[in-house]
Formats: sequence, structure tokens, C-alpha cells
Amino acid sequence: MYVSVVIQNSTREFDKFYDYIVPDNMKDCIRPGVRVIVPFGKGNRLCEAFVMAVKETSEFSGLKEISQIIDETPVLSDELIELSKYMRKRYVCTYDMAIRCMLPTGLGLLFREDVILMSADRVDLDRDEQEIIKVLSDNNGKISVEDLTQIVNRPVRKILNQLIEKNVVRIKSHVQMKARAKTEKNACPAMDEEEFWELVENNNVKNLNYIRIMEILYEEGSISVAELNALGFSQNTLNNMKKKGYIAFYDAEVERNPFEYDDAPETLPLPPTPSQKKALDIIYEAMETGGFQEILLHGVTGSGKTEVYMQAIAKTIEKGKNAILLVPEIGLTPQTVRRFKGRFGNQIALLHSRLSIGERFDQWRRIKNGEARVVIGARSAVFAPLDNIGIIVIDEEHETSYKSDRTPKYDARGIATFRCRYNNALLIYGSATPSIENYYRARTGKIKLVEMNERTNNLPLPEIITVDMRKEPDMGSKNGISTVLTRELIKNKEAGEQSIIFINRRGYSNFVQCRNCGYIVLCPYCSVSLTYHQAEKKLVCHYCSFVTAKPSVCPECKSNNIDLHGIGTQKVEEQIPQIRSDISVIRMDMDTTTGKRGHEKILDTFRNNKIDVLVGTQMIAKGHDFPDVTLVGILSADSLLGSGDYKATERTFQLITQAAGRAGRAGRHGRVVLQTYNPDNFSIQAAIKQDYKEFYRQEIALRKMLKLPPFYQLGLVQVSSKKSEAAMEIIKKSIQI
Ligand code: ADP
Ligand code: ZN
Ligand code: ZN
Repeated sequence: MYVSVVIQNSTREFDKFYDYIVPDNMKDCIRPGVRVIVPFGKGNRLCEAFVMAVKETSEFSGLKEISQIIDETPVLSDELIELSKYMRKRYVCTYDMAIRCMLPTGLGLLFREDVILMSADRVDLDRDEQEIIKVLSDNNGKISVEDLTQIVNRPVRKILNQLIEKNVVRIKSHVQMKARAKTEKNACPAMDEEEFWELVENNNVKNLNYIRIMEILYEEGSISVAELNALGFSQNTLNNMKKKGYIAFYDAEVERNPFEYDDAPETLPLPPTPSQKKALDIIYEAMETGGFQEILLHGVTGSGKTEVYMQAIAKTIEKGKNAILLVPEIGLTPQTVRRFKGRFGNQIALLHSRLSIGERFDQWRRIKNGEARVVIGARSAVFAPLDNIGIIVIDEEHETSYKSDRTPKYDARGIATFRCRYNNALLIYGSATPSIENYYRARTGKIKLVEMNERTNNLPLPEIITVDMRKEPDMGSKNGISTVLTRELIKNKEAGEQSIIFINRRGYSNFVQCRNCGYIVLCPYCSVSLTYHQAEKKLVCHYCSFVTAKPSVCPECKSNNIDLHGIGTQKVEEQIPQIRSDISVIRMDMDTTTGKRGHEKILDTFRNNKIDVLVGTQMIAKGHDFPDVTLVGILSADSLLGSGDYKATERTFQLITQAAGRAGRAGRHGRVVLQTYNPDNFSIQAAIKQDYKEFYRQEIALRKMLKLPPFYQLGLVQVSSKKSEAAMEIIKKSIQI
């Protein structure tokens, strides 16, 4: 018997299947998806590997044997093994990278093994065996393999196997969860991610452990030193990294278990509204028909999409199948979780990045053991070790966070498609502002389209007041808050109602705009906005690398009122009390939401303490339900338009629609003040009218004309070399393709 394995932590050079012989005594335990230890390379270094296939013959000769099997049950199902092959091709990554997406970082914690003494009265034991029995007896008949190895001071695996054969001991693997202190030492990156990868690219980081640790830290944000140690990284390594300026340490409070939503009241399915009924009928029919199918649920905010998801998932469970619900990371609010918890109780597992590694591992194990049948989570939850999937729902399917920005650069929508195809399952996309690509597929009949146009409470959509910032006295350049918004904020304060001010930080101070006419400095070749680089004091095109100086007068209207554009959340927060000193304000952005429950704390304070104004980035634009908010101010609706991305118009439309959706949720009339320098831009026009179809009609025509997705695919080829001629050579060759 043979196996084909993939070596863990292998570079591209070794990224292939290696065959090994399965020794007779392991034949019963070997299965695809278990981890094994194998001798690898010339030096027969022991490596961890994944079994990808078990087979009777091998075309290779002179093969080595597996040294050991790590897992009793496979950590990868057949489906996930197939998925890793797909990902390797589709996202040009190694098997190992693909598999790492599927396994929780804490998996190494799992298989701590204890040796347990069963009976000590066998007489046919040799000296080695007796020695181990003695240690076991001294330790009340139970000791970890690690400690045992230390005490006898040599490898014990072989002797243990003999003892197991003789039924004298058995091995029990278990999870080791460390008791947690009140505060614990954490590590976080001390260097910009891009900067670090540049060091790596230039071969300035020689230690692979450093890279591995930074990868984890960039993914997690921060992680306790104890957990890093448990993953096999020594204190020494961490100290050296601190010296090099890669990481920093800090003490943090240990957070309580984030799964305690015991206060979630049980809820029963609501009688569907007519449009919900129409949607559910189509979904149930698709379930009856069976096979892989896709449905796009296009419903305005508050049309009851979430209720539709819940009823569709309930039906799936009824049919004996399991479900995954993906939500954008920031949409995964306690409110959302509570709603699902109230409906599905303990059948729910949660996966998101604000959980500690231990907690995430716990959830992973519950899913794997079949204890959880509904998995709710952000992007990475699409890899949940769930069997027998009947439905995957992707809420807010247009969100950019479904695409991973790290290698492998997978798209959760692509992975979901693979898994639904594999399981003959239903894939539901939901959004108030569907991605152009998916809406196009729906309109051309590739996927089913269901539209829900009314809010469940029949409330009108909020009134939108547009402010043309070009006509604002002093162009709003002082504080970015227009006179209209100032007036409305005061009105709200006097009425005792709450307000939200939304600023898109991504446009913060990095492009140049004329405050007189709204002109944005564009690349003459690519027609995207140029980005200001502080260090070189130059404007740069991120597409073609065109470089130019910052102009001192506007090329359009010759005004000299042209400058870096953008106003940050902090600045606005400072300005609110200047409007009226009794207006209270709280800010929510990346800087104020550190820690696992950072978001919730701020939102709770805003809600419970009746703070007048919440100032924040796109984090506040979606998902949250604030009954007392009647006014939403959008400060620079067009800042995305200068972001240099072909999806900028699409995002602008989505953002305005979503921010507007926060106003007047609980039966009160909502107002939106929308400040813009480009009131004529069609994405802003369509957003003001809340007319998705109109927006789509114009955008799809543009996409076709400009040869952009969904009509064409875009790809990025990066070539790097120490010698520019060598890189040029390869680029020239690739262009010819
Ligand atoms: P969406 O996800 O489309 O924004 P939700 O599912 O959150 O919409 O529904 C908006 C509100 O309407 C929620 O408060 C929800 O409880 C309520 N709702 C949803 N469906 C119904 C229904 N069939 N009958 C009454 N209220 C409903
Ligand atoms: Zn350019
Ligand atoms: Zn101008």
C-alpha cells in the first residue's frame, strides 16, 4: 500500500505529491486527509505531511516508509482535498498554502498525546519497556509523550508502539487548552505589512520562522505570546524579532468567551411578506430540483433578506443537510449572531478573526464532529470542515472583503461555488447593491434572480439632501462639514435624535483635488487619479507608474485652491463640539476599535448612553441597526471616485446606499445629507434616487466599452529581478502571449 503526500511548509520547488510506502502496521489507520510524519530529502529530515491519496501501486521505486501517523481521524475531507487541488490551479498557490486556509492555526495544539497505563503486570517486557512502565507508575499511570521523552531522554515512539501492541499502554490524544491569566502578553506587528514583504522580497529576511510569524500576525492583528509558543515559536525567536523592529509586545486583558449569547431570545419564523414568499418559493423549488444552483437575492435594505436566509437554512436542516452563512467581517455584529442564535440555538458555530486561536480551534472541532450544523462566519468560514453542505448563503455578496488580500488570493465566492458544485448544493447571493458581475450573470440568465423591492415595515427610503460642496462657502475646506449638515445636526440634537457621520478614510489626503471646481488630478494615460506619495512629494499613477509634481494651480480653472484632498475621522470628531458645545460625539475607526470587542463596545456606548453623534469609517455603514438614528451625513461621497480602481463607481453607489440605509430604521423618517464635489457623477445620481437598475444600466455599458469585467478578465503579472534588464526581458515575452 502506498500514499501520495504533500509536505507541510514546502516551497514551490517541493510543491508536488511524494509517494511513500505504508508499513503493514499502519495499513488499518491510513486514510486520505490524515497527517503523517515522513523522512524527507537526502538527510531524511522528519517532516509533517498530508496524505492526499491512498493507493495500491506506485509508479516510483526506491520509496521510503511513513514514520508515523499523526491523526486518528482525517483533518481534511475528500472534498477539501479536491478543493486544495482546485485552489492550487485557480489561485496559483502551493498545496500547502491552500490547505493552510482550511485548518485552524491552532491545530498544532490539538494532538497533544498522553500515554496511559492499562495494566502493569505483564512479565515479558524488556528493559526499555520496563523503564517506561516505571515512569508511568510514578506519574499515576498517565504522562504526556513530550514529558516522557524528556524523562527517559531518548525517542520513545518505537517502544510505545511495542507496548501498545502488548496492550500495556494506550495513547490518548487531546486538546491542550492553557488556563488563561487575567492579562496576557501579546505580540503584534511593529512594521507596515507592505514594508515587511518588501524586505522579504529583497531577501533581507533570512529566517523562515520570522516570515511565518509575521504572516500569522498580519492575519490575526495580534496574538498572545503563549499561543505563539504553543505553535512552536520560541521566546528567543520572538525577542530577536522585537530587536529587529518586526514586532512589539503589549499586555492585554483577556476577553470573555465571545460565544455567550445566552440572552438571545428564541425566535420563531415570521410569516413571510409577499416578496419574501416569492423568494422562498423559488429557493424551495431549487432545493426540490436539486443539483448545483445559484440564486441572486436582490433586496433593498430592510426588505427581510436575513429572515429569508434563516427560513431557507431551516429548510436545509430539515432535509438533513448543513449550511454556511458568510457575512462580511464587519457585518458580523452581535445583533446578527443573536438573531441566528435565537433561531438555531447550539447548532451554530461561529468563525471570525476576532476569536482567539483557541476559540477558533474549538469551533472548528465542533463543526468537524458534526455538533454544529450552521456555520456563520467571515471570509475564511467558507473553508469550514462541514460535511454534506446543502446551502451556502453569501450575504452582502458585493463586499470586497470576500476576496483575500493575502496569498493565496482566493475569492470566497469562488470557493463557495466549488463547494456547492461538489455537494450539489444551493448557492445564494444576497445584496441590496449586487456586484455588477453577478447582476450581469442574473440578467443574462446564468443565475436566477429574485428581487425584493419593499421594506418589511413599508417605510419609505430616507430622503436624500445633496450638498454641492463646490458651492459651499470657503468650499467646506475648513472642517468638511457643510452648513446644511451643521443645521441638521443641531436640529437632531434639539429633537433628541441621534446622528451618524460617515467618512471614507481611504480617500484620506492621498489625491489632489481643486476645491474650486472639483477637478481631480488624473493620469494622462490611464484616466485614474494619481496618488500622492508623501516621501518623494510626487504624484504617482499606480497603474502605469507615471510620475509628476503636484500642481500649484488647477489645470482646469486656474484657481490656486488646489490641494491634497481628504478629511479624517479624528478631525471631524474634534470639530463636532465646535458646532455646539453640548453635542456629544464618539468615534469608530481602525484606531479606536482594537481588541476583540472594540466594535461592540463603541456601538453599545453610542446606543446605550445616547451619544448624539457617531463619527466613523465604512465600519459603521452597514449591518447595524440603530433605532434612534434619523440623520446620516456622508462627508465625501466621491472620495472613492478618486481611488483609481475600476470598481470605484460601483463602490461609491454601494457605500451611499448602505450608509443611507442606516437612517430611520425604526419607523421614523430618515434624512441623509450627502456632500459631494461631483453631484453629476452617475453613480452619485443613481444613489440619490436609490435606483440600482439605473446605475447598473450605465455601469454595464461603460464596462463593455472599456473592456472591463464581466466582459474581460483582469490579471496582474508581477516580475521582479535584481537586474532590471532581466525583468524587462520576461515582461516583453509575457506581453506577446
Ligand atoms: P435585510 O436583511 O434585508 O436588511 P432584515 O431581515 O434585517 O432585512 O429585516 C428587516 C426588519 O424587518 C427586521 O427587523 C426584521 O425582524 C423584520 N422582518 C423581516 N421579515 C419580516 C416579516 N416577514 N414580518 C415582519 N417583520 C419582518
Ligand atoms: Zn497611468
Ligand atoms: Zn479647478
